Amino acid sequence: MALSKLDNLYRQVILDHSSHPHHHGLLDGSTNQIEMNNPTCGDVIQLQLLVKAGVIEDLRFDGSGCSISTASASMMTDAVIGKKVEDALTLSEEFSQMVQGNEKEDLDELGDAAMLSGVAKFPARIKCATLAWKALDQALTEKQETTVAKQLHCED
Ligand code: ZN
Repeated sequence: MALSKLDNLYRQVILDHSSHPHHHGLLDGSTNQIEMNNPTCGDVIQLQLLVKAGVIEDLRFDGSGCSISTASASMMTDAVIGKKVEDALTLSEEFSQMVQGNEKEDLDELGDAAMLSGVAKFPARIKCATLAWKALDQALTEKQETTVAKQLHCED
């Protein structure tokens, strides 16, 4: 398991998020919903968002996935709740660049999610880490009113 090779501190935080995920469950009265899966690992995520006046007021996730995908989803919720939609989309892009190894100097805005930078060393796990962020992107940009199922496409 790739986790064993990550820095010990980071690994502990990642394990904490995966065993006790933040903002896990269902959201009443959500405005945006999406379901997405990562076929290479079998991770499935459902996101429910409450977006008002361009701000992500609340967000919950459910589904089943490996520890990386669950931890990443938990960290993502911490990073984007209370943020403007445009800022959340910027964070999503920064996260995507980070796990592909294109790290920028200032990752503070990503919060705990910055600890997943080590995933860049494990290409097979990058899609696990980006699943929640891709789902967020889709949910925010397509203004989904109902749950839709989408598969991630290979990026190469
Ligand atoms: Zn996975």
